[in-house]
Parts: sequence; structure tokens; C-alpha cells
Amino acid sequence: MQIPHKIAFLNGQFAPLAELKISVMDRGFLFGDGVYEMIPVYQRVAFRLDEHLARLANNLAQVRIENPYSMSTWREHIQALIHAQTFVDQSIYLQVSRGPAYPRQHAFPLEAMPTVLMFADELEPPPAQAVECGVSAITCNDVRWQRCNIKAISLLANVLAKQEAVDAGVAEAVFLRDGDLTEGAASNIFIVKDGVIYTPAPSNLMLTGITYDVILELAQQHDLPVTLTPVTEQMLRDADELWLTSSSKEVLAIVNLDGQAVGNGQVGPIYKIMYGLYQNFKMTVMHRGQE
Ligand code: PLP
Repeated sequence: MQIPHKIAFLNGQFAPLAELKISVMDRGFLFGDGVYEMIPVYQRVAFRLDEHLARLANNLAQVRIENPYSMSTWREHIQALIHAQTFVDQSIYLQVSRGPAYPRQHAFPLEAMPTVLMFADELEPPPAQAVECGVSAITCNDVRWQRCNIKAISLLANVLAKQEAVDAGVAEAVFLRDGDLTEGAASNIFIVKDGVIYTPAPSNLMLTGITYDVILELAQQHDLPVTLTPVTEQMLRDADELWLTSSSKEVLAIVNLDGQAVGNGQVGPIYKIMYGLYQNFKMTVMHRGQE
């Protein structure tokens, strides 16, 4: 394994990623006790940064880790990280764990100093082939806990589901819990039926994606009908169109689910509209960054 030497951030210090070290007693490592964010950056402008930082603050509060920085300090550190890279389109990975503590015990340590790690990778948009022709997915039983609204670093169920997808040669695993759609292993899911977009309303059973919110806003602004409602397995299988959304995948059409064509098996018309709207929206953000 070769870790690159690009500049990363650990606990207030900037240093090459390959040189960063944390304690083996870190509760992120021992318990998966922490939360994270993935923030896309276009032309060195962080996309929806305030929303990502608000979600981070909310997640930290949910797991009772004190937010180590004010919003303005987070922004400063993230800007510095972005400008330390040689590439302009980035995905910033940011994680806060409860920090190191000895001895190992489940309950919170009396004194904990959170560990803050950030690094940037080059952000590659989804391949043109995936955008033009769509991707395939499988369904998977959602065996996760009841607090999936928290963007926790303990992701074992998501990891296993994603590997099932990879083993099946498809792009995503779509979770079904008690007969209803929740989300993807690393994405939110939308369906289209007779011209109406349907997606589950935010709940404790899914992560409310920043991209999910952007898609809903764009649909509303452009008079595309949307209904937030439980999506049953039957609705999922009878859909004309299926989409997945995430910060890295943007919006992609799923054209095959469990080996069956979704609708007519082609990328649908509403998807094409939404993809265009999303790209326009992104361009606006990039343009603002260049002013
Ligand atoms: N749901 C899960 C489980 C995810 O892991 C992700 C992103 O990684 C999303 C939804 C989409 O979130 P966002 O649009 O903020 O990237």
C-alpha cells in the first residue's frame, strides 16, 4: 500500500498524509466511535459547505462528541486543505472520532480529546458511460441499526452490502427494510412513476443526503412533481425510472435491478432533465468560485 504524500490535516496540523499517525487506542479504531463527512469540491469551491458542516455539527451532537471547532474555524481549515492540493476538483474526507482513551471500555472516557482527520482526493465525475447508459443494482436486506440518519464511521453493514453489489458486478446495493425502500449502501434512492418523483421522507432509517436535498430543491424550483412517501418494494420494482444520488455519484440512473430492466431498461426522460439541472447548479457554484 502506497499512501500519497499530499497535504492532509490531523488535529490542527497540516502534514503529508503518509506521515500521519494516530493512537491504536483511538475509539474510532476500536469502536467505530465517530462521524464523518464527504464534501465535493469543484474548482476549489466546496459544494454546499455550510450544509455539510451543519450536518456534521448535528451528527456530533447526536453521538455526544463535542464539536472541536467553530463553523468559521472548520471553514478556514477546509479552505487551507483545498488550497494545499495540486488538483482543483476534490473530495474532502473529514472524520471526527471520540479520540484515544485507555483502558478500553465502552462508556465514554471522562476526558476525551476528539481526533480530527481530513484529507483530499481527486474528485472524478461518474464516467460518461454510467451517465448516458445508467448502472445496475441489486436489492439487499437492510440489517442496519435504527439510527442510520447519523453519518457514523461504523459502516460494516454498508460495507458488506456494497461488497455484495461488487460481487454481483453491479454499482449499488439498494436497501429494503420490512418491505420498504430505505436508501442505497452509499446513496439515496429516488423512483419515478408516471412522471412523478417519489422518495422516502427523511427518517432515522436513512441518511439525509446533501445531494438528496439538492435534488428536491431543483425539482421544486422546476415544477417537477415530487412526493415524499414510503416507497414499497412493489413501487420500486414497478418504477419507470430509478435514480441513486450522492456527493460523488451526483445523480445516476439505475436501469437494471436484480437482473430485471427498470422501466424500458433505458435512462429515462425525467432523469435526463434532473441530470441537466444538477450540472447547471454545479456550474453556478463553480462560476461563483471563479469570480
Ligand atoms: N446514504 C448513505 C448511506 C451514504 O453513505 C451517502 C453518501 O455517502 C448518502 C446517503 C448520500 O449522501 P450525500 O448526498 O450527502 O453524499
